[in-house]
Amino acid sequence: MKKKLSLPQQILIALLLGVVVGLIFFFTDSAALTEQYLKPFGDIFVNLLKFIVVPVVLLSMIQGIISMGDMKKVGSVGGKTVAFFMATTAVACAVGLLMANLFDGAGLFPTLALGDTTYEAKQFDGFMSVLVGIFPSNMWKAFGDANMLQVIVIALFFGGSILAAGEQSEPVRQLVDSMYAVIEKLMTFIISLSPIGVFTYMAWVVATQGAAILGSLALVLLCAYIGYFLHAIVVYSIAAKFGAGLNPVKFFKEAVPAMIFAFTSASSAATLPVSKECAEKMGADKNIAAFVLPLGATIHMDGTAIYQCVATVFLATCAGVDLTLTQMIMVVAIATLSAIGTAGTPGAGVIMLTMVLTTLGIPVDYIGLIIAVDRLFDMGRTTMNITGDIVGSLCVTRWENGKLNN
Ligand code: ASP
Repeated sequence: MKKKLSLPQQILIALLLGVVVGLIFFFTDSAALTEQYLKPFGDIFVNLLKFIVVPVVLLSMIQGIISMGDMKKVGSVGGKTVAFFMATTAVACAVGLLMANLFDGAGLFPTLALGDTTYEAKQFDGFMSVLVGIFPSNMWKAFGDANMLQVIVIALFFGGSILAAGEQSEPVRQLVDSMYAVIEKLMTFIISLSPIGVFTYMAWVVATQGAAILGSLALVLLCAYIGYFLHAIVVYSIAAKFGAGLNPVKFFKEAVPAMIFAFTSASSAATLPVSKECAEKMGADKNIAAFVLPLGATIHMDGTAIYQCVATVFLATCAGVDLTLTQMIMVVAIATLSAIGTAGTPGAGVIMLTMVLTTLGIPVDYIGLIIAVDRLFDMGRTTMNITGDIVGSLCVTRWENGKLNN
């Protein structure tokens, strides 16, 4: 009997096949066919992942909190997690700015004219209203809108209350355990379909956006991707080695399925089930991963931060705005915050870019210059986003438990 290929192997093959098929469609000028007939299968797959993401985050976090046993432990895990997230995102901004300034300084960024390009920006009502918006007034609406920050707040409140209710909450604990077991089974099934999603999305992206790689934005893309790579190789390797005590090569090898998945789906939230599997395989504590990963998929976005810095410097150049050092420091602060506010869904990072540009007085219409190829930026930034979450769950496991789980 032939040996069945493992899921990571299948995903890798699907990725390569997708590139080949995408190139064929690209060079035969039939990219529209991939949009009509291949992308819908990828969409179905991502829809399935999105439909389980609310129950996965909710149940996984509540279960993680219950298993930790007391709110002190949750506070300790939460504190370490948020500290790790903030630190790596701040470094990511620095990496993004460094790369953008190197490229800009060497005159590598094209100066594109705005012409009649426009971009309909989302209105921001300031930080206080963002803060108020994190707290749900209607639980069902939070679930319905998949407002993940609100879902996390709900999970924290319910998890804490279940612990506080002691013995009386026993049936609820069992219910959470049982529901999570069911959701896990469903998740495993949906993930087993991922080669289809990876193949169809990859073929579509290569066929429809391949030209952009050869076009005028190639160097801006290259700049962002060098930033992503640098950040992964330096920051995540250091975190894996010194935070989690794991060989960085082993770390990246084991993280590959989640990385490929994030690359093709461009959604941290949708990748969550795969990230969880990878993290646990590498020795992340199940309960800690159940807490850190959903939180990370929602608020920890290093790739998005790098992208926002690169895009800001590039668009500032196009707009003829020279950023001062103080403004650059402001970019770090705002990009960190806006990365936190970015949802883990395709294209969310570009919406939050408006916040950075508005603060710096750069007209948001300039976003129109790069929005068409956002998917290409997004694939890389999502990959970074989830890799940072996985390494975070491993570091926090070691910091809490003294060692990884194997
Ligand atoms: N697509 C990214 C993610 O899901 C967010 C972004 O657009 O930057 O992590």
